Amino acid sequence: MRLVLDGAALVANWRALDRLSGNASAGAAVKADGYGLGAADVVTRLSAAGCRDFFVAHWAEAKALAGLVDPARIAVLHGIAPGEEALALAVGAVPVLNSADQIARWRSVGGGTCHVMIDSGMGRLGIDWRDDVAGLCAGLDIDLCMSHLASADEDSAQNETQRQRFDQVRSGVNARRYSLANSAGIGLGRDYHLDCTRPGLALYGGVPCAALADVIRPVMRIETRVLQVRQMQAGDSIGYGATFTAPAAMRTATLALGYADGFKRALSGIGGFTHNGTRLPLLGRVSMDLTCIDISAAPTLREGDWIAAELDLRQVEAATGISQYEWLTQIGRRFDRVWVD
Ligand SMILES: *Cc1c(COP(=O)(O)O)cnc(C)c1O
Repeated sequence: MRLVLDGAALVANWRALDRLSGNASAGAAVKADGYGLGAADVVTRLSAAGCRDFFVAHWAEAKALAGLVDPARIAVLHGIAPGEEALALAVGAVPVLNSADQIARWRSVGGGTCHVMIDSGMGRLGIDWRDDVAGLCAGLDIDLCMSHLASADEDSAQNETQRQRFDQVRSGVNARRYSLANSAGIGLGRDYHLDCTRPGLALYGGVPCAALADVIRPVMRIETRVLQVRQMQAGDSIGYGATFTAPAAMRTATLALGYADGFKRALSGIGGFTHNGTRLPLLGRVSMDLTCIDISAAPTLREGDWIAAELDLRQVEAATGISQYEWLTQIGRRFDRVWVD
């Protein structure tokens, strides 16, 4: 099994997002191992293309990348928990301080440059925009002062509300740069771009909003091999629960790919593969390591042949209700990750 990763498409997506960010420069969210694709390869390629700001969630993620890029350009979104001070200082990445406690902790170790997160309505992480943000931040050496949009991928009044709250608060915060937009936020226009944008999903081929539909290229393709070709008779069933029964004699193929690889069971009955441009529908349930398909339309397909899964992120999100973020970040660990370009 291989995950074929298109490095040129990754770079083209970053360049497109950087261009759409106007005067702001686009960074890259590379948390969760670069949304499942492999953070080290993503960071290497994007930093060669000119990307300067990388965002991870955990210190361990920052540590894993620190040899590839100046750690001062790696922001740790979870900030600094009790006991993480020594690791943080050793790694040299920059914490995103999310609370008064985190700020106090950073000050107590003489931490130096930091970022701060203002919660303008996400209700998750960050200093509440109604708190004394200016007072809490006074005297800190702040690079990025940021906030995060809750509904950027929707046409929601919340976007403008959050933008105004952030505008109001950040005027009292002395930072080198200000940042609000994720991928979908870039599509909301110049008022949201400020100095730095933080796309993740769209770098990897996800399309969170119509404004990005025409510019984002797919980056990831799943390919696997035919393990066995079968000749089924009318009445034979396939897989767990025998949910598919052959209506007539048909050729099927069993593929090395299953839900343990992130090829989710939700695709049962709707998923498919393509071989030389022909669509080959999935039959029965997806198993942990195996998937069966109808190859009546591909009579030349043989054991050992490679075949590509049909996995358009927007389509599978619409068909299954499982978000594009989950499709990417839950890709399994058993693939050979093969970068082309
Ligand atoms: C994950 C994350 C991003 C990237 O969001 P996408 O929707 O994937 O573009 C940006 N900012 C913060 C704070 C994040 O946690």
